[in-house]
Amino acid sequence: MRRLAAPLGLLLALLLCLPGGVPASALPGVEASDYGAGAAQGTDSYWPLDGNGGTDARHYDVRVRYDFASGRLRGRTAITMTATADLRSFSLDLLLPTTGVKVDGRKARFRTSGKHELRVRPKTPIAAGQAFRVVVRYAGKPGEHRYAGERNWLASRSEVVAMNQPHMAPWWFPSNDHPSDKATFDVRVTVPKGKQVVGNGVRVSRKVKRGLATTHWRMSDPMATYLAFFAAGRYVIDQGTTAAGIPYYNAVSRGLEPKLRGYVRGQLARTGAITDWLQTQLGPYPFATTGGLVTGLDVGFALENQSRPTYGGWIYPGVIVHELAHQWFGDSVAVQRWRDIWLNEGFATYMEAAYAAAHGGPSVVAYLDKMYDRECTFPASDFWRLDIADPGADHIFDEAVYDRGAMTVAALGNRIGFDELATLLRKWVADHHDGNATVEQFEALAESVSGEELDGFFAAWLREGKVPPATLANGLQNVTCG
Ligand SMILES: [Zn+2]
Repeated sequence: MRRLAAPLGLLLALLLCLPGGVPASALPGVEASDYGAGAAQGTDSYWPLDGNGGTDARHYDVRVRYDFASGRLRGRTAITMTATADLRSFSLDLLLPTTGVKVDGRKARFRTSGKHELRVRPKTPIAAGQAFRVVVRYAGKPGEHRYAGERNWLASRSEVVAMNQPHMAPWWFPSNDHPSDKATFDVRVTVPKGKQVVGNGVRVSRKVKRGLATTHWRMSDPMATYLAFFAAGRYVIDQGTTAAGIPYYNAVSRGLEPKLRGYVRGQLARTGAITDWLQTQLGPYPFATTGGLVTGLDVGFALENQSRPTYGGWIYPGVIVHELAHQWFGDSVAVQRWRDIWLNEGFATYMEAAYAAAHGGPSVVAYLDKMYDRECTFPASDFWRLDIADPGADHIFDEAVYDRGAMTVAALGNRIGFDELATLLRKWVADHHDGNATVEQFEALAESVSGEELDGFFAAWLREGKVPPATLANGLQNVTCG
C-alpha cells in the first residue's frame, strides 16, 4: 500500500477511513476452541478474529453479482478446503448476511454473528486431513458493514473497486481472511453489459446474457485473501507484452476527465518497463501477468493487488515502482503475521530509492544519508520510537515502517555490501516464492548470506526505538547528525 502524500493524502485518508482501526476483541457467543469445533479465531495478535482454526483453504471459486443503483452484492462462493483437525464445525470470515451453506453438496447448519464470523456445522463431521468443499450463498450491501474500525467498500453509482489492506475479503466473499492461508482463485463478476470487470491474473472469459455480462478472472498462484480484488466500471484497456515477455493488462477509468485520463494512461504504461527492471534486480517476476488499474473513484492510496495493483488519478512513477515491488515483497512472499509488515513496506519503499538511483536520481547511499540527516535531529519522534519489527495494529502503515524500513535495507547494503544485498534479496524471494515469511527469517538469512553477525544492526534499526548511532556497524558512513 502507498498512501497519497500529505496533506491531501491525510485529508483523503481521514475522509475515507483508511485501515488501522482498533483490533476487534473476541466475539461473545462464538466458541473459541471447543473440542471438534474449528476456532473462530486465527493466530494473529493484531486482529485475533482474522482467519480461523482447523481449516486450510486451497481454492476459492467466487461468483458475485453487483447492483450499482442499490449497492447490493449477491454472491455464491465455493471454497475447497482441507481439515487440519477433526471438525464438528468450523468458521469463515464474512460480513454480509448468509442465506445458505452446503458442505460437500449437503445442506449445512450455520449461524452468523453479524460481525465477521460465519459458523458452519456440516451434516457429518470432517476428519483431519480430509478435503471438502463448502458453498456459501450470501447477499447484502457491503457499504453498510464495518470491521475493525474499517469501512472498506469503495463505490459510486457507476464504478466499484474492492481494494484495501489489511482487510477486504469479508466485504465480498467468505474466507479464512489471513495472509498465512493463501489459495488460488477463480472470480466471476456479473454486472450490466455496458461495464467491464477487472481482476487478478488472467481474464478467462466474458459472457453476455440478458443485458448482463459475467467476466471470469483466474489467479493460478497462491494469493492472500486481501490481495484478491475486482473493479467494475467503464475503462480504457491497454494490453500487450512487456519487452521481457510478460503479458500486461492496464485499465484506466473513463470516469476520469479526458485530460487526466490521458496523463494517467501514460503513467500506467510504465508498468511493463518497471516490471522488467524489477526482474533484473529481484529475479523472475512471480506471476503470469502484470498490469494495473486506475480507478475514477476518490482513493487516497494505491494497493498491490496480486498481479494488478490499483491506483488513484494521482499515480506517479514512484508509486508504480512501489506497488510492483510488492509483487515480490508482500504478494509472492507474504507476511506470516501482520507484525511482519516491514517486509512489505520497508522493502517496497527501498525499491523506490533503488529505482530512482538506477534512473538518474541520487544513489541509495545518498538517499540514506539525506534521510538520516533529516530525521536524526528529531530523536524523540515516532519515526525513531516505533518498533518496526512489531509496530502494533494501529501503526502498520506508519511512516517509520516505510521510510525507516527502507533506510534499514539501504543501511544493510552499506554494512554487508550492495552485491551481498542483491544476492540476499534474490535468495529471499526465491526461497519464499508463493509462501509466507517472518522478520526473524529475514534476519537469519541476512546473517547466513553475509556471514556476519547482525543482531546489533537489526536491533538498532528495527527495535531499539532511538536513532541508530552513525557507525560502520550500523551501515552509516560519512554521515553525522546535525
Ligand atoms: Zn506498500
